[in-house]
Amino acid sequence: MPQLIDGKALATKIEAETAREALALESMGASAVLATVQVGAHPAVDLYVRHQARAAERTGIAFRRTLLAADTSERQLMRELDALARNHEVSGVMLQTPLPDHINTRAVRRALDPAKDVEGVHPTNLGWLLSDRPGMVPCTAAAALECILATGIELRGKRAVVIGHSETVGKPIAILLMERLATVTVCHHGTLDLPAEVRAAEVLVVAVGKAGLVQGADLRPGCIVVDVGINEIEVDGKRRIVGDVSGVAASAAAWATPVPGGVGPVTVALLMRNCVRATARQLPSL
Ligand code: NAD
Repeated sequence: MPQLIDGKALATKIEAETAREALALESMGASAVLATVQVGAHPAVDLYVRHQARAAERTGIAFRRTLLAADTSERQLMRELDALARNHEVSGVMLQTPLPDHINTRAVRRALDPAKDVEGVHPTNLGWLLSDRPGMVPCTAAAALECILATGIELRGKRAVVIGHSETVGKPIAILLMERLATVTVCHHGTLDLPAEVRAAEVLVVAVGKAGLVQGADLRPGCIVVDVGINEIEVDGKRRIVGDVSGVAASAAAWATPVPGGVGPVTVALLMRNCVRATARQLPSL
């Protein structure tokens, strides 16, 4: 049975450091203010926003929530983001996704101010990832890396497999692993033999959003599994949140993140850290 990578404990540590950084900023007369924008009610997003609000409170960040009507147009949303980009009181902005179908997520993300983009999803921040001077690192990818490093593994030379190649999760994770000199394979919906790729992985990161996509029986003995997926399923008439990997507890993996309680809390903690660091970078004297 694998050892659990305790995302909550990691998040607590990151939040404690972030709270100290926020206090240091306060002593310089600056305060971190995180504005979150959501379009339409969505149970998973509502829950995620509540987690962010609590983490902001714990770290000393002011949290401002804007909930726009579900029929808000792309143009109206861009105007809202533009206003936040110009608002000097706001130091971080987070656009909640998924957005309603009539809004092009990529297009509206371009309206974020890269300096306030705490999620690291603006093309400028994604571009910085490819250089050795990263801007705001996409927080879910950074959280997955934190979970891997918490095991004490040296990534150099390890065979890492990432399943999922989205712009904001899979691709950034692959780049972060490559930077640490892991040999990285990226799988996606075009991959022909996924179980074969899984069997080769010493480090496996799964970020797809399909419960049961990876089976514990296929995991390589001694591997590290980071399950980024979040899926709501029904078990015995009750709703449950699970990841993309099933049967990990009975597998021969050495380490695994739980879902919930793995990558999720670390992602939220890193959002807060990005916000405080963005605030510091916006100080005129720094
Ligand atoms: P996405 O829909 O943008 O991308 C999904 C990826 O999965 C794509 O690259 C696609 O090619 C791949 N895929 C689909 N079917 C596949 C298959 N059968 N085999 C192999 N690959 C397949 O999703 P995303 O935004 O990258 O999010 C992925 C998951 O991570 C979701 O469950 C999401 O809820 C979760 N997530 C978690 C956190 C967190 O903090 N824990 C944060 C963001 C996203």
